Amino acid sequence: MRRVYLDNNATTPVLPEVFAAMQPFYLEEFGNASSIHHYGQHARAVVEKARASVAALLHARPAEIVFTSGGTESDNMAIFGLVQRGDHVITSAIEHHAVLNTCKRLEQMGCEVACVPVNGCGEVDPGDVRKALRSNTRLISIMMANNETGALQPVEEIGRIAREADVFFHTDAVQAAGKVPIDVEKIGCDALSISGHKIHAPQGTGALYIKRGTLLQPLIYGGSHERQRRAGTENLPGIVGLGKAAEISKKWMETGGPAEMAAMRDRLQDALLSSVEAAGVNGLEAPRVPNTTNLWFDYIEGEALVIAFDLKGLAVSSGAACSSGAIEPSHVLLAMGLSQQRARSSIRFSLGKQTSPEDIDFAITVVPATVARLREISPLYHKQTVG
Ligand code: PLP
Repeated sequence: MRRVYLDNNATTPVLPEVFAAMQPFYLEEFGNASSIHHYGQHARAVVEKARASVAALLHARPAEIVFTSGGTESDNMAIFGLVQRGDHVITSAIEHHAVLNTCKRLEQMGCEVACVPVNGCGEVDPGDVRKALRSNTRLISIMMANNETGALQPVEEIGRIAREADVFFHTDAVQAAGKVPIDVEKIGCDALSISGHKIHAPQGTGALYIKRGTLLQPLIYGGSHERQRRAGTENLPGIVGLGKAAEISKKWMETGGPAEMAAMRDRLQDALLSSVEAAGVNGLEAPRVPNTTNLWFDYIEGEALVIAFDLKGLAVSSGAACSSGAIEPSHVLLAMGLSQQRARSSIRFSLGKQTSPEDIDFAITVVPATVARLREISPLYHKQTVG
């Protein structure tokens, strides 16, 4: 059976070039980057090369990059590392749970958290961020791109507000990295999180940008790795993979990759809108990353659609994959003002660098037929068409 994967915001396949770059570091070139012999020196050199590649992707200095185990650790490291008991923190209603639940923990530890809303397109209003500032605000943590809708947030304006108020600004760029150019200086952030497995590097890899001179309390204690900021022997093959994926992403962005991907995404979106009635796009008016579109299909449960698509060979997701198993509708879509029912009927399609035009053709065939079949047996649909 043909299988097409359009759930790249959940995870991406490791690209063959990335895998090829990593392979020797499991077998022949396996040193500990802290050792002083040949193996260690070689490992250190490749870790620093990868650090430079990740820094180049973010327009940062290599010394400002700390390797982590992924987006969740990067978010935790930035938030716990910059905030102390008694501080006030500003975040948004559409953050990933890696930020939202970290902020919940901050509240238990004696911090106060303000959560700014979003508009109907899933965008934060920088004016709301400004209004939420208090004399004890220490940190603003607002994502660069939302994982469910792809909506890009006005991070440069938020960065300006943070600088004027002299508070730290962290942005979760896990879903923006490798899809749109990132310049930490332009954004004016103090910390920025990325995850390897969203950019075709292996799962369990990631990085945190920390602006030079920013004092950050480590999350993990041990040796003096990563300039005392993150203890533990470096994940050598993973770091090599992340460095290679960063290089590929940078080149892809410089050679028209995003426009090509957005055209494929838009072709899918337009074809579905014209062939399926009672459907629409969540966050259509917002600037979005080029790989994501989130559609609602009224009168059907998103979970049922995901299963039905999967039986036909198409992998997509409803709500955030990281919290799948939870039956509650997406907090992101609810924050945008969708009804419970419409939020429950929403599906995310997300493309990757491996996605081909034929994959899009396949989805354009499978989706309308499956939606029609499910609606035939949907009591909700019959109620509205009959009554
Ligand atoms: N932040 C965002 C916006 C995400 O989409 C994800 C994963 O889906 C994470 C953080 C967590 O990243 P990781 O899976 O690398 O821990």
